Amino acid sequence: MCLSLSGQVSEPDPVFIQNLYQKALGDQQGYFWLSDLCKEAGPRLAGSPGDAKAVKWAVETLDTLGYEKVLKQEVDVRHWVRGIETAEFLSKGKRKALNITALGGSISTPGGDSGNGITAEVVEVKNRKDLYAKGSKLKGKVVFFNEPMDPWLINTGSAYGKAGWQRWGGASEAAKYGAVAVLVRSLTHRLDDFPHTGAMTYEQGVKKIPAAAISTNGAEWLSKELLKSPHSKVKIILGSHDIGRKNSANVIAEWKGIEKPDEVILVGGHLDSWDLATGAQDDGAGVAHAMHAVWLLKSLGYQPRHTIRIVLFANEEFGLDGAKKYAKEGLEENRKHILCIESDGGSGAPRGFSLPAIIHDKSPELIKELDNLLARYGCKEWTQGGSGADVSQIIDDGVILCGYRADSQRYFDYHHTSQDDIKSVHPRELELGSASIASFLYFFDKKL
Ligand SMILES: [Zn+2]
Repeated sequence: MCLSLSGQVSEPDPVFIQNLYQKALGDQQGYFWLSDLCKEAGPRLAGSPGDAKAVKWAVETLDTLGYEKVLKQEVDVRHWVRGIETAEFLSKGKRKALNITALGGSISTPGGDSGNGITAEVVEVKNRKDLYAKGSKLKGKVVFFNEPMDPWLINTGSAYGKAGWQRWGGASEAAKYGAVAVLVRSLTHRLDDFPHTGAMTYEQGVKKIPAAAISTNGAEWLSKELLKSPHSKVKIILGSHDIGRKNSANVIAEWKGIEKPDEVILVGGHLDSWDLATGAQDDGAGVAHAMHAVWLLKSLGYQPRHTIRIVLFANEEFGLDGAKKYAKEGLEENRKHILCIESDGGSGAPRGFSLPAIIHDKSPELIKELDNLLARYGCKEWTQGGSGADVSQIIDDGVILCGYRADSQRYFDYHHTSQDDIKSVHPRELELGSASIASFLYFFDKKL
């Protein structure tokens, strides 16, 4: 680890930081860019026409801002499409439509859009232990995973991580016992009618079965019905399927440093979104944060010591294709990343930042300084570990990987749903995030 704190530079100036916040709240440029991205590109699942529009939009927008370099790094991405998705509950003459959506990567039911789907008895599984206990009883059944996100975890991302196994690997876990399909409770604390998609994977060597998410209200209802009528069935039709590889791109803008141009401070988000909405929260907000944070510094006449690079990554949602390509190839061999930060937690008001142990545990004086400068703006949580998924792929020797932490309470109301659009974004909360990230970049540009 080569954390070398430079002694010769001027200290971060609290007045300059105040100016960053004032400018962000005054110009609302991040919100403007985010609205424009959502409108111009729309939903932008990797490899889709919307994704291509987003790349074009990002290049054209960054091109107007006077950076030394704006370029596309071509990325080959997985492309999956959704198709028809319906589910119906069937019990003793009772029929009811269920709100479902295919999980990203799911195969179709037999015959795809034009087939008759799968009709089978449905068995509820409340947690991993319940899955193992029910084991052989799952043969030929639709397994209904219904472990809610833990309501007692204050950080909703932690609750998401804890319950995420059902979505991510539930299909293969159930298929090992002979299940024919899975329905997974949507990953949100909120009780509503919107199913949440998101990536799932199939374990090698295990039969692939179709997988869909059911809304939380749907899951609560289904659970109660199954208590009354344990042998009820569901009929599921999914048309989802992979259609091969497509082209996409990371979009990169570079602002050259005046003292250490070969050392890069990177700020990023991911340009792709799910296909159910325009992805204003995930991760349009991160795109706006990265673009706006650097623009705030530039428009206030700041001269960075290090090269500052904005990277808008391709295909985070479906396998980190853009991040892997960026990390593997880099742009120039003689450049070295010293700090990378990603915003991929939505547009909520700032709470703080995650930092690696080398800073968090070993440089408490730095945390104290950051806290002195930023606590008044809402940044008070300095946690260890957990940068964004994209920047976590960058493993340059000694690189400091960080994450922006927005307030998480409402993020999973929208995440991966049809509701993740610009209406869910509060402009001031978004702009406070841009200013916080700008201040963080400024702080470390001075310190490293
Ligand atoms: Zn994301």
